[in-house]
Amino acid sequence: DAAISLRDLSKTYAGGKQALRGISLDVPRGQIFGLLGPNGAGKSTTINILAGMVNKTGGTAEIWGFDLDRDPRNAKASIGIVPQEILFDPFFTPFETLENQAGLYGVPKAKRRSDALLAAVHLTDKRDAYARSLSGGMKRRLLVAKAMVHSPPVLVLDEPTAGVDVELRQQLWAYVRELNQRGVTVVLTTHYLEEAEELCDRIAIINHGQVIANEPTRALVGMA
Ligand code: ADP
Ligand code: ADP
Repeated sequence: DAAISLRDLSKTYAGGKQALRGISLDVPRGQIFGLLGPNGAGKSTTINILAGMVNKTGGTAEIWGFDLDRDPRNAKASIGIVPQEILFDPFFTPFETLENQAGLYGVPKAKRRSDALLAAVHLTDKRDAYARSLSGGMKRRLLVAKAMVHSPPVLVLDEPTAGVDVELRQQLWAYVRELNQRGVTVVLTTHYLEEAEELCDRIAIINHGQVIANEPTRALVGMA
């Protein structure tokens, strides 16, 4: 079974923009999978459909074998999403942010889980600070912890290193690799070929809402 399976996924926005024109692809379980493409290709639209934030126009999407339409609860429980935009309640602390998220998902031992996640992303010393006081890099790490609170088997990161400095990029890559080594299937979108090459086992390239390549990274880079 695939971690994520898309069949003929399409999206036309109100106003008529055809963002996805029949995307079909499987993300193998256990891999780091890159969704690569230029701005406007349809990467965020694809992620937002998986996140339940955008309604698809046609096609099907399965997450960990659960159909998004027929079994949305299990589909949602199987995925964690790190959005591109950094959105937190500025008056919540990192600990509260994670504890609330744990509550939303009915995660047992929410306090212990929240502290464990803060440690994993090296934010223990910011546990009780207001989210608004964190640096951009710290906020980005808190977003990753928030996405992992319910221990989903699949983690999706939308442009994780856009606008991020070299040091933070290395930190995020290391953390993504660590999660993957612990068994999490990772999907990330990027418009940097080097990032996909460095991190991903497999890369799908989308352009104008269509898949134009879907290969193991080695094969794809060999072609270039
Ligand atoms: P990417 O993430 O690859 O940059 P997007 O999925 O954000 O691409 O966008 C795909 C296309 O859909 C673009 O042409 C974009 O302008 C358009 N689009 C994205 N969001 C909306 C929206 N909410 N309403 C209308 N058009 C949109
Ligand atoms: P510092 O650690 O010195 O507070 P930051 O990490 O907040 O610095 O980031 C410095 C600059 O990079 C800021 O302009 C910030 O907006 C930008 N930046 C940092 N992280 C991100 C991010 N994850 N996404 C977008 N921009 C970011």
